Amino acid sequence: MSDEGAAVVAAVAAVADRLETERSHLTDLDSAIGDADHGGNMARGWAAAAEAVGELDDPEPMTVVKTAGKTLLSEVGGASGPLYGGSLVFASPELEDGITAETAVAFAETYLEKVQDRGDARVGDKTMVDALVPAVHTFKKSVEVDDMAPLSALAKAVAAAERGVDFTVPIRASKGRASYLGWRSVGHQDPGATSTLFIMEELLDVATEHLEAPEELPEHPESPTIPDGEVTED
Ligand code: ADP
Ligand code: MG
Repeated sequence: MSDEGAAVVAAVAAVADRLETERSHLTDLDSAIGDADHGGNMARGWAAAAEAVGELDDPEPMTVVKTAGKTLLSEVGGASGPLYGGSLVFASPELEDGITAETAVAFAETYLEKVQDRGDARVGDKTMVDALVPAVHTFKKSVEVDDMAPLSALAKAVAAAERGVDFTVPIRASKGRASYLGWRSVGHQDPGATSTLFIMEELLDVATEHLEAPEELPEHPESPTIPDGEVTED
């Protein structure tokens, strides 16, 4: 398996583990302003996605992402299945040539575009878009304008998503099931923005494991840097 393909398979597995751990947390958030199925949707969908990508033979990143997306589409109903699954499938061709800072930015932008095309939500509607928009814009700017290393850019994007999640708390929902509550949705954190943040945190973790250069150790850590005898006193 290509190193990149293996990294993406590992990322899907890490997301599945995390969302299983957060199942009741996400369910609690969705009980407050929805129908209490987001934890189950995410845990079940991503577990199936991890299983499906684990069975692929020597896959490239694009195939892994497409397979994960298709699995989410078929396993998860409701709003989040098509939004997560459909957008992953739609954006996957951006990774056709593998994962670089450039293709990662293109992937993130196309993913966001599809979420917004499909769900018609904008920032401030109290949805996953509130986490995604600042994350994708921060990632793009950090790579393209600030010339940041991809890992640092991703870390900044995760921090931006976190602020986006916090932003969903005081606002009123205008899209999705939570919008039926009107003003009663105020004061609650959006479940989809929260799962988006968890997924991004796992991507950062796996990317850190796969991208960080191993620290170079000196060949002879014990040997003195300046050999005896070469230091002379004036
Ligand atoms: P359902 O709302 O059908 O029960 P889930 O509970 O799995 O589906 O997902 C709910 C999450 O989906 C919300 O918290 C919100 O972030 C997201 N969501 C709902 N509608 C939209 C939309 N139109 N655009 C973007 N995200 C949306
Ligand atoms: Mg729900």
